[in-house]
Order: sequence, then C-alpha cells, then structure tokens
Amino acid sequence: MPRKCATTLPSFGEQEGRHLVLGVHPMLMVDTDSVVVERLLLAGELTCPPCGGVLRPWGHARWRSSRREEASVRHRPRRASCTACAKTHVLLSMAWLSRRADGVSVIGSALLAKAAGAGHRPIAAGLGRPTSTVRGWLRRFGARAEDVRVLFTRLLHSLDPQAGPLLPRESVFADALEALGRAGAAGVRRLAPRPPWEFASWASAGLLLAPPVGAVSNTS
Ligand SMILES: [Zn+2]
Repeated sequence: MPRKCATTLPSFGEQEGRHLVLGVHPMLMVDTDSVVVERLLLAGELTCPPCGGVLRPWGHARWRSSRREEASVRHRPRRASCTACAKTHVLLSMAWLSRRADGVSVIGSALLAKAAGAGHRPIAAGLGRPTSTVRGWLRRFGARAEDVRVLFTRLLHSLDPQAGPLLPRESVFADALEALGRAGAAGVRRLAPRPPWEFASWASAGLLLAPPVGAVSNTS
C-alpha cells in the first residue's frame, strides 16, 4: 500500500458520476498504524480525497468503541483539514469501515460465510454478534453487490492489466466477493502486503457497506 494512502484508485465516490459519501465530508482511509499516519500528516504527505490538496492536522474525531474479533477497542481517529478547499476529513484506519462498529475483517468473514451458504443466524452465533447486526451487513452487501463487483473488477484490471476474466459464480453476492478477493491479491502484488479486508476498506474508501445514494442510513 502506498505510504500516502493513495486516493487515485477508484472508489464508490467516483463511480459512474455518483457520489456516495456518508455525510458532507468523506472519510480518508489510512494506515492501521497511527504513528505512521501522524508522521505522514505532519509531513504533508496526505492529500484531500476530493481536491488533492495537502492535509494538515485538525484535532481529533470523537472517541469511538469498535469491535475486533475478540475484544472491543477504544480509538480516536485523527482529523485533518485541507489547505486548498478547507474541508475537514476524519482519518479512519482501514481496519474499520465507515459507520460500522465492527472491524472489516469481522464483517468480511461473515460475508464469506454467507457466500459459502451459511445463514445469518449461525454466522452471528459463530462471530458472537447480534443476529440483527449480521443480517444488516449481509442485506446491505447484497444490495450493493453489483456496485462492489463493478468497482473491484475495475480495480483488478487497473492493478493487473494481464488479469484473467472473472468467471460468474452462483450469485452476484459471490461474484462481488470474488472480484474483491482477486483485486486484493493484485493489490498485494502491485502495491504492498495488506490483509485483504483492509485492502477492501481502503479501496472502497470505507464505504463497502455504505447505503445507496439518497438512502437513510441505519447502521450498527
Ligand atoms: Zn481539499
């Protein structure tokens, strides 16, 4: 992964002219190492997603409690402001997704289990998460699966022009995960080692489970 957490790769926000940001200002997905993020921010090496201007420190976002596989963690994302357009951005670690309390790897394991044929109740039991929460993830991903498939297929071919075609699977849900996995593998080869679900968070600008444009958000 580029140290600057490149924003030149496609995201939902750029797809087909639509702008899928949650709220007025989009998140900027950054390294999971806060020391690295701070160093890049102070060095002026992070750029504003909409305009490409240099970001400068601008305090912190609120404290939040998020859940990894086994335990909750308290963290307080950095906030930055753009020296060009003056917008502020929350710098969210790519271990998370925008407006989701669970780590992207936890959510990702639920998506993979669903694609393998499991139902939301056993997935929730296996992960120790509320059934309603897991059902929400699966429904949202299912509703966005075609967008995810398109985004990550484009990303795959931009990262690896020699990549073979993605063969259709039994559902768009599975197709989307296949594209995501192939793009993640290409990202590791082309950019840097990175856990696949962190790559997915980064490449989707944290919006892997974002609501469609105009939808009312109801996340957990
Ligand atoms: Zn800007």
